[in-house]
Amino acid sequence: MSTLIHESAHRLAEMMAVGDITCEEVTRAHLERITEAEDQIHAFLYVDADRAMDTSRRVDAKRRSGEPMGPLAGVPIGVKDVFTYAGAPTTCASKILEGWHPPYTATVVQRMIDADMVIVGKTNMDEFAMGSSTENSAYGPTHNPWALDRIPGGSGGGSAAALAGFEVPLSVGSDTGGSIRQPAAVTGTVGVKPTYGSSSRYGLVAMASSLDQPGPCARNVLDAALLHQVMSGHDPKDSTSIDASGPDVVTAARSRDVTGMKIGVVKEFGGEGYAPGVERSFREAVAGLASAGAEIVEVSCPHFPAALGAYYLIMPSEVSSNLARFDAMRYGLRVGDDGTTSAEQVMRLSRGAGFGAEVKRRIILGTYALSSGYYDAYYGSAQKVRTLVIQDFSNAFCQVDVLVSPTTPTTAFKLGERIDDPMAMYKADLCTIPSNLAGNVSASFPAGLSAEDGLPVGFQVMAPPMRDDLVYRVGSGLEALLEDRWGGPLWTLMKEEGR
Ligand code: GLN
Repeated sequence: MSTLIHESAHRLAEMMAVGDITCEEVTRAHLERITEAEDQIHAFLYVDADRAMDTSRRVDAKRRSGEPMGPLAGVPIGVKDVFTYAGAPTTCASKILEGWHPPYTATVVQRMIDADMVIVGKTNMDEFAMGSSTENSAYGPTHNPWALDRIPGGSGGGSAAALAGFEVPLSVGSDTGGSIRQPAAVTGTVGVKPTYGSSSRYGLVAMASSLDQPGPCARNVLDAALLHQVMSGHDPKDSTSIDASGPDVVTAARSRDVTGMKIGVVKEFGGEGYAPGVERSFREAVAGLASAGAEIVEVSCPHFPAALGAYYLIMPSEVSSNLARFDAMRYGLRVGDDGTTSAEQVMRLSRGAGFGAEVKRRIILGTYALSSGYYDAYYGSAQKVRTLVIQDFSNAFCQVDVLVSPTTPTTAFKLGERIDDPMAMYKADLCTIPSNLAGNVSASFPAGLSAEDGLPVGFQVMAPPMRDDLVYRVGSGLEALLEDRWGGPLWTLMKEEGR
């Protein structure tokens, strides 16, 4: 197996830029790793091997011709199967979209193509991005490379496991309630949910449009920032896209210095329901940041614990509306169309056969919450809670630069452990959801391995909207501290153990 798979994205890009290696070699190494690892990990729903090899040769030719290349040119990347990419199927891990070939490409994917990156395939996920374990995929779960009997998080478990399993150096996810950050936490990787509106949702199959946001997944902070920069920017095709340039996240990711930063620890996120190993790693990381020159204060955000409940009304309401388009008339699965059935019967049969249990649960919940007699009691109340969460953030950011918490209350749980208990599954996103409701930037960085079970713990950093640079600055400071302790990035520990 080629050692290239253990390199960071920025290192691979540098080696290609100076001519030490070719994009063809890099791409082949990763495709070989995918072939070797997929039996065990199942991070991908579709591997686009031939097109990736063609792209790699084109990128090499472009470089030889002396044309200017971007900072991630030639780097392989996996794309969550919730983004369209013309020429490859997009399923959202659902039977209802099996075999659908979208005629257009998502803006964030197009930006990667324009940056000469090499798309190697589509990664596994919970169906329509609903879940925290990737077990809701209609095509079977993804396994966590740290422990194959554990969940890789969700909904973007494929994108995170592909990184932890060295199948790709970078991947892309979408985060509605934590689907980039929670998988990052349980796989020891970096995942960033950018400020809402700073990366385009065009071509991202909608789950809950007021919450969904595409973002980068990586094995280190600088790689995430470089991808963040490629992905983000105004897009006239997305009406919620922010028409202003974002902060310089790459310089922030290189800073590795938290001196003078004011960091607020969210008082409400800890205690009962949090694994002792998670709390310990989190506290050690906070102490490390203090010793590196940050000022630490405790901040109360009294409405954060209510965010989960509000999310499970607002999100399903939007889901019930967004998923109405899968009606068997225009694309996707069509069941029972034998010439005698009505269009309505075909819709009912197709939606019954095509959607999984969790998707149906949310459509029903959302339809109920929006129904005329209950709208104010449920949807209306949830929107009020959303406003209170936004106010908590505003008050907090008057006192501190960033807020921090564990990303998720536990480390990776066992596959099968929560699949029949939706409430237990939902709690995985207790700490991540406030940032989706408020639209601010939030990221998960590795905080270390839990002393209880040896599994990765995630450290969440939240910053005000359009201050994405601040989360990268804290992330890079934390990374520098931990690398001193481990003699390298967290995942080198995994490599040494031969996993
Ligand atoms: N796990 C959360 C859910 O099930 C988050 C989903 C997401 O961010 N796409 O809704």
